[in-house]
Amino acid sequence: MSQFHQETVAVHAGHHIDRSSGAVAMPITMSVTFEQAPDARHDGDYFYASAGNPNRAALETALAALEGGHAAVAFASGHAAIISVLRTLRPGDHVLVPADVFQGTMRVLTQVLAKWGITHDVVDMTSLEKVRAAFLPNTRLVWTETLSNPLLLVTDIAGIVNLAHSYGAEVAVDNSFVTPVFQRPLEAGADYVVHATTKYLGGHADVMGGAVIVGAPSAGFDDLRLRRWYEGPVPSPFDCWLIHRGLKTLPARMRVHAANAEQVAAFLAGHPAVEQVHYPGLASHPHHALAGRQLSAYGGLVSFQVHGGKEAALKVLSQVRLLIRATSFGCAESLIQHQASSPTHGPGTGLAENLLRISVGLEHPDDLIADLDQALRSP
Ligand SMILES: *Cc1c(COP(=O)(O)O)cnc(C)c1O
Repeated sequence: MSQFHQETVAVHAGHHIDRSSGAVAMPITMSVTFEQAPDARHDGDYFYASAGNPNRAALETALAALEGGHAAVAFASGHAAIISVLRTLRPGDHVLVPADVFQGTMRVLTQVLAKWGITHDVVDMTSLEKVRAAFLPNTRLVWTETLSNPLLLVTDIAGIVNLAHSYGAEVAVDNSFVTPVFQRPLEAGADYVVHATTKYLGGHADVMGGAVIVGAPSAGFDDLRLRRWYEGPVPSPFDCWLIHRGLKTLPARMRVHAANAEQVAAFLAGHPAVEQVHYPGLASHPHHALAGRQLSAYGGLVSFQVHGGKEAALKVLSQVRLLIRATSFGCAESLIQHQASSPTHGPGTGLAENLLRISVGLEHPDDLIADLDQALRSP
């Protein structure tokens, strides 16, 4: 597949015509068990559904191809993928995580892994100097998430990789916010790419899933793949089928998400009711230049702060008609959220109270802008 462009890879990787029926859309194989040879040998591709399934294998082939990786392991959720990578660590190991990491990753570290003797420190990943200063002799993993939530900060993946590898540590990148269409961490030397396929990869807010992709064979990856079987966070065949279907339109959808987001960001930046816009495609973003080098486009999320504090932000939220008040991102519908009110971003996370985050969807940008304009103007 590597000879093809990414749009072609997205449509064809992992796809095959069903030889028994000629079906072009792949069938969903629900079977839990698979027939064995008369002499009891297990020499087929499949044996038992938690060990392997044709829809899961097809999805994993497509995920690995899209990230330019060696192999992928699909999980039942993004959380399951995250903990699976963190548990390649052993008791006594230490991990560095970014200050604005996904709150689910933080909860796993503080409420699950701390009990098993895996420690962590929080560091501003956008400063290579601060990351260097945070390394301990037992640091084995650097966890990064870029773009970050909700300020869409950019971490220099190649810089982190050089640093971590010089200390004998591995690097995992949560690539959920921009997808392989805009950013390919394995090409920058990252060891693991992690996805909540629940978001852009599935693309329709109707299926949960996660994935881990690696650039090269490794003992850690073999262990992770086996643990998915032993521990059981397997995605269903139908969920795999839905996510695989989503991947076929991923490059096409991402182009529209990003083009719409650029227009929404530019509109907000020029609006008198808006105090500040956070979008890496704007020259005012602190990491605009790095984003331009590392990403092929700036993604589909836009955060902004309004004049008038929390009250004004909640007012805008209450007035939108087309945008939907909901958490998550990466679906066709535009979503808007007051992050500071979210149960996962409560008090103490230092989040601005006047900040709203938009997952810009696939509607016409003029309609989104008109809706935001009337919401911002409402007295
Ligand atoms: C949503 C999200 C996850 C978790 O995915 P789930 O499928 O909800 O478990 C992980 N990382 C990031 C960046 C996310 O936004």
